[in-house]
Amino acid sequence: MLPVEEAIEIILGEIKPLGTEQVGVLEAADRVIAKDVLARRANPPWDNSAMDGYALIAADVVSATDENPVKLKVIYDLPAGTFPHAPVKSGEAVRIMTGAPVPDGADAVVMVERTEKLDESKEVLIKTAPHTGANIRFNGEDFKIGQRVISAGSLIRPAEILMLAAVGQPEVTVYKRPVVAVLSTGDELVDIDKRPDKGQITNSNGYALAALAKSAGCTVRFLGIAGDTRESLTEKLTEAIEADAIITSGGVSVGDYDLVKDVLLELGSTMRFWKVALKPGKPLAFGVISSRPAFGLPGNPVSSMVAFEQFVRPALLKMAGRRAIFSTTLRARITEGVQIRPGRMNFLRAVLKVKSDGYVVTPLKGQSSGAITTMVNANSYIIAPPDSSGFGTGETVRVQPFDSSVFLSDTTHYPPVTKTEE
Ligand code: AMP
Ligand code: MG
Repeated sequence: MLPVEEAIEIILGEIKPLGTEQVGVLEAADRVIAKDVLARRANPPWDNSAMDGYALIAADVVSATDENPVKLKVIYDLPAGTFPHAPVKSGEAVRIMTGAPVPDGADAVVMVERTEKLDESKEVLIKTAPHTGANIRFNGEDFKIGQRVISAGSLIRPAEILMLAAVGQPEVTVYKRPVVAVLSTGDELVDIDKRPDKGQITNSNGYALAALAKSAGCTVRFLGIAGDTRESLTEKLTEAIEADAIITSGGVSVGDYDLVKDVLLELGSTMRFWKVALKPGKPLAFGVISSRPAFGLPGNPVSSMVAFEQFVRPALLKMAGRRAIFSTTLRARITEGVQIRPGRMNFLRAVLKVKSDGYVVTPLKGQSSGAITTMVNANSYIIAPPDSSGFGTGETVRVQPFDSSVFLSDTTHYPPVTKTEE
């Protein structure tokens, strides 16, 4: 059986990023930027004041204290949005607001709280001696003209939007969103709004896989259910291959009605593999049809979700132009021992928690590949390598979180850092 790592390599070898398109910055959130952004202006664009206060020459006020303030002449006011019209000379100061450009000659700003206005603001008492450069944000200290400020392949988060706006880029080149066809197969399946008859169940995978594909930044073409017949599968898969990627669930094991692989082959797919050494999720077909990847995921709900996370998500992220495509793992202390049968890489549904002294993880009861409750209660997978036969309580294990709930809490989380936490 094909090891998980090799399966991932085969899949990614077939995936190329899609083309690009232009979108406005307001529509760019959660898209993937396709070109490096080089700053066409600097930030700050000029030396500016970090405080409301007085721009002055530090050398003029080296002796200034509360008891012995130094008096300076205020030559003009400089609100934000205005530009200095005269340099500061010895004995002079300019009343300056936060963000306003520092006038030539001045080399420090004293915050207004350390000053006292005199004589209808024509003079000011300075009560502290600033160091040269105090409260000045220097031209280009954040970024310089021509500097790369966003790298291609980055997800556009609010911070990237901030940057795009700061450099004055109203349009941005992003990768196209992959269109993913999601098809569920099985004669036992009925749609979500139908009451299942005897022997029938609801097509739950289709909805979960659609949600997963969306979470990977894709647009979903929801194709519903195909029956376990060549005709039905051919019809639906013919529709599916118009998408950029195809995800099916069910019908890929060795049962008499497991026809997905056969029909994909008939439609011209090259099959790269159909079994992977992972649990849950061993039957997993991967083919390429008119240069589009087709993922035949197993029918069991948990298996299909595990297989999506390990194989489909990295592929879709690569197709979507992302640079970082793999889910990271971290080390956590396991709160309860668990036994597993060695042979395949094992993904145990688990609850990962962030404690003050590190990560702890609890494997959930009910690891059957059909157990939907476990999936709902879990936020992570404990990954056991193929040769592992389990873990003892307190052992350190590898965990792959699959959603950000791990890092959210219903209480505030500013604990003091104690010695033991360091
Ligand atoms: P299969 O791989 O088609 O043999 O399916 C394996 C198991 O997964 C069977 O119990 C199916 O009923 C179940 N199953 C298949 N497709 C779905 C689906 N779309 N939603 C929920 N369960 C499914
Ligand atoms: Mg089936």
